[in-house]
Parts: sequence; C-alpha cells; structure tokens
Amino acid sequence: MEKRDTRGIDLSVVIPLLNEEESLEELYRWLVSVLEKEGYTFEILFIDDGSTDGSWEIIRRLAEGDPRVRGFRFRRNYGKSQALHLGFKEARGETVITMDADLQDNPEEIPALVRMIREQGYDLVSCWKKVRRDPVLTKNLPSKIFNWAARRVSGISLHDFNCGLKAYRREVVKKIPMYGEMHRFIPFLAIQAGFDKIGEKPVKHMPRKYGRSKFGSDRFIKGVLDMITLWFLLRFSKRPMYLFGGLGLIMFLIGFLAIAVILGIKAYKLYRGIPTHLVTDRPWFYIALTALLAGIQFFLAGFLGELILQTDKRGGDYDVAEQTHPPSDQPD
Ligand code: UDP
Ligand code: MG
Repeated sequence: MEKRDTRGIDLSVVIPLLNEEESLEELYRWLVSVLEKEGYTFEILFIDDGSTDGSWEIIRRLAEGDPRVRGFRFRRNYGKSQALHLGFKEARGETVITMDADLQDNPEEIPALVRMIREQGYDLVSCWKKVRRDPVLTKNLPSKIFNWAARRVSGISLHDFNCGLKAYRREVVKKIPMYGEMHRFIPFLAIQAGFDKIGEKPVKHMPRKYGRSKFGSDRFIKGVLDMITLWFLLRFSKRPMYLFGGLGLIMFLIGFLAIAVILGIKAYKLYRGIPTHLVTDRPWFYIALTALLAGIQFFLAGFLGELILQTDKRGGDYDVAEQTHPPSDQPD
C-alpha cells in the first residue's frame, strides 16, 4: 500500500536526459524563474539516463546549490521510459510535470498545464506541438502517421501522443506501468489504468538549441511494434481464445472443407473410372493440409493462453480508488 507523503509540495518537474550538458543550466534557471513567479513549492528531478558528457557534473552542482533540485543517475543508458519510471516513483508533488531537457519544451507553459490539472480536474494533460519545429521528412511526417495510427488503435483523440511535456495528477504517475519504450503511449496507459479525463493543450514548440536528437530512425519501427502489442493487450489479453481460437477455427474449417472436396472429387473419379492423379500430386492438397495444421496450432495457442490466465495466481489485478472505511493493516 502506498504511504501518504506528508511532505506534500505543489509540483514535481521530472526531466529525463541523455547528454544534454549545454541545456541544463539554462533550463534550470528558466524553470526556477517561472515556478517561483507562480509561488509554487516545487522540486526538480533530473534523471540522467547514462550521459557520457558533463551532464551529471552540472546536475550535482545544481543540487548542491539548491535543495529543490534532486538528481539521479543511471549507470548506463536505459531509455527515456525507465528514466520516467524512476521520476514517477520519486515525485512528491501533487502535480507532476514531465519535460524534455533540450529546451524544446517551454517552461512558460507549465502554469497553464497545472491549472488544468488543479482546477479543471484533468488526470493528464498532454501538450500538442501544433506547429512543430523539427525536420519535416524525418520527424514531422512519420510522427503524423504514428499519431493517426495511435488514435485509431486507442480511440483517444489526441493530436500528439509522444510530446515530452505533460502534466499529471500525482495519483496517475504512481499507477501507470512504464516499461519498454512505452513513454510514447502514456495517455493510452493512463486510460487503461482508469484515468480517462485526458486533456490536450496546444503549445509553442521550439527547435532544438544544442546537440541533436537522441532517438534514431528505428523509433518508428519500435513505435509501430509497441502499438501492435498495445492493441493486442487491449483487445485480447483477458480472452486470448477469442482471437486464436477464432482464427484457428476458421483455418481448420477451410482446411477441412478443402480436403473433403479433394477427396470427394477423387472418390467420384475412381467410382466413374475416370483416370486421376494421386491426391498427393496436387498442390491443393498441401495448401489444405497446411491450413488444417495452422488451424490446430492457432487453436492450441488460444487454449494455452487461457490455461495460463487460469493458473496465473497473481490476482488482485485491480485498483481500488476509494473505500468507505480505512484500509485494515495487513502484513504484506
Ligand atoms: N532521452 C533520454 N534517454 C534516451 C533518449 C533521450 O533520457 O535514451 C531524453 C533526451 O535527453 C531529452 C528527451 O529524452 O531530454 C527527448 O529526447 P530528444 O529531444 O532526443 O527527442 P526528440 O525531441 O528528438 O523527439
Ligand atoms: Mg527534443
């Protein structure tokens, strides 16, 4: 059970970063000036995802000079999702902001995002880089396609799933499972965890000031594969038989019918004394056989899936949001 944190503060800003030494000081100063002007109590969490430049030195210095700064360093590069995972775990603020370290996200947007969470009751607000300041062919176009597909798969009508600047109610970040490279699908994960008040705010986007993008072109392939996983989990993780059993049944029936037809024709020709080939000389025979076998395989996969779910004793795969009496003290 999660212990209630008594050191409540207004805001945690979580910043995952990889080799961003040129930006960090500027980002820190800009953030502090905006947040102090708003009168928030806040903390800034820098999660160094295995930088090999001077980033960590800078974070250490900033943390020495300002107790509101907390730095974490990964031993190696684990990826942005893992950095966010740690940030989410450590965040103590009532509202949590995530942003990139490369000065592409504008700190001036934060107060409006916080107001949307606090006053309009959103669980999560995602920014939308309406005018995107990135290379068109390598970034903007693939990103448009990605977002279109993500909208179709998830049914969430956001323009921009993968924007680094987002605001969350504290509870949300404590509940969404961040793994693999799922940071691209945070709104989707939030909905699956039962947080469905998701907002969007158009923001000004800025071109990268220093350094270069830390993601290669394989990001889109990974993104697409993750999307297929999510689609599958969303639709079939509770009932694998519906997918595999259905497919298996169709394949099996096709194979079975085809074999019946082939054998029927053969029997008819034999009966009539018409000269015929061996059935094993006919390609149709093998196609039908394959369909039959594939059908059985699919069916078994569905069946095994169901068995695994049956014997999965983890249970408790739910989330009690509220209860009328205080939780009893049970040993873990
Ligand atoms: N980043 C990270 N770990 C990685 C790759 C990126 O923490 O393995 C950080 C990076 O330093 C930046 C943010 O994630 O703060 C977004 O990365 P980037 O700006 O390179 O992505 P883009 O803007 O090109 O989508
Ligand atoms: Mg960037």
